[in-house]
Amino acid sequence: MSDTHYDVIVIGGGAAGLIAAGTAAEAGASVLLLESMQRAGRKLLITGKGRCNITNNADIPEYLKHIYPLPKFCRPMFSRFFVKDTLRHFRQLDVPSIEERGKRVFPQSERSMDVVDALVSWVTHHGVTIKYKRKVKHIITDEHKLTGVSLDMGAEFSCTSCILTTGGRSYPATGSTGDGYRMAAEIGHKIIPPHPALVPLETSGDLAPSLQGLSMKNVEASLWVNNKKQRSEFGEMLFTHFGLSGPIILSLSRDAVIALSNNQSVELEIDCKPALSDTTLNARLLRELDAHGKAKLKAMLKNLVPLKMILPLCKNTGLDPEKFCNQVNAAERKRILQWLKHMRFTVQGHTGWNDAIITSGGIDLKEINPSTMESKVLPNLYFAGEIIDIDADTGGYNLQIAWSSGYVAGQSAAVI
Ligand SMILES: Cc1cc2nc3c(=O)[nH]c(=O)nc-3n(C[C@H](O)[C@H](O)[C@H](O)COP(=O)(O)OP(=O)(O)OC[C@H]3O[C@@H](n4cnc5c(N)ncnc54)[C@H](O)[C@@H]3O)c2cc1C
Repeated sequence: MSDTHYDVIVIGGGAAGLIAAGTAAEAGASVLLLESMQRAGRKLLITGKGRCNITNNADIPEYLKHIYPLPKFCRPMFSRFFVKDTLRHFRQLDVPSIEERGKRVFPQSERSMDVVDALVSWVTHHGVTIKYKRKVKHIITDEHKLTGVSLDMGAEFSCTSCILTTGGRSYPATGSTGDGYRMAAEIGHKIIPPHPALVPLETSGDLAPSLQGLSMKNVEASLWVNNKKQRSEFGEMLFTHFGLSGPIILSLSRDAVIALSNNQSVELEIDCKPALSDTTLNARLLRELDAHGKAKLKAMLKNLVPLKMILPLCKNTGLDPEKFCNQVNAAERKRILQWLKHMRFTVQGHTGWNDAIITSGGIDLKEINPSTMESKVLPNLYFAGEIIDIDADTGGYNLQIAWSSGYVAGQSAAVI
């Protein structure tokens, strides 16, 4: 064991680890931050397409609508460190922010690098010792008392408290390979099985590939599990060569992936015209067909759907695109309506950890004190960030959870 004893060792220098380390050091603790990669915040660098959506300026009730599986777990952490604290913190670090559509907040410079650099300077300024390329292997205990951590290369460091912030399993190239789950399980924590979330979904059949590249706004996607409608999302989506992607699909993916892992049948239904009821759309179709009686169906459809959708629509409804509108009968009209309002896809998989923006599952919430983020299994062990069984929709919510839980863990661990 190294001669130097630290009040707090933080394992993992991502969003949660950096804020936890800096907060503990600011509170007066001696802090060692161990990071397996060559530099801190590798994942932070790629957030928000390199712009880093640092938070969402919504209120707590709105936040709770976007958090899974137990939103109320986040209440105590949000009551101690929430959006205004995040914004103030970054302002103090010379990273002013701007708010965009959907209350998403970004650094004014639109550079995630500025967020990482500011956090690293801040923790260093407060005396945190950062050691890179140090992969922690175990949390060491002695008679059920936390004593330190050991590295895969054999070295050991002693500490009074430890904060585990190794992230989830998604985008493993950024360093989050799921190590923390194993370490926590070794000391007796229950791990809710991790699954990729906010991930594109693979569908069977050739419908999605035939629409590949088509991005649709203002559509509604509904998730069906074992023939039961689970929930719907309204907004933007994308058809791809393998299936479906885009914001509303990513939002539904969490539940879709869990259902697939339970061997349940998973389908997605797309309503391309959610603003129109069946009756209104039927009336609209009638009007269009009447008005363009002598035109070909494929020409009339340009008024209703994107160009790219016309031939797949005709193929899937068994209609001849060259047919004249005045030859389309009621049954055929009903098929068009049905297709536009209830386009069905069987989900057969997802694109995997390399594409998942977040990990669902993780350290069981029942074994964490939400007011301190301390383990209920091993005193003086704390958790923060994606490693815990909390995940959220896109929009800055996930990083706010990392900041809030990191702050609370850092403050709590520093009280020795
Ligand atoms: C492409 C992409 C875009 C995203 N965009 C956004 C966004 O704009 N807004 C938003 O709110 N969320 C976004 N997220 C989610 C957000 O990045 C995560 O929620 C957040 O980074 C989690 O922080 P964390 O500190 O818990 O984990 P991480 O950021 O993953 O950090 C974990 C750290 O632990 C280190 N580590 C792992 N194992 C060990 C070990 N054994 N020893 C030492 N160190 C170890 C890793 O190297 C890593 O540095 C995005 C995610 C992805 C993948």
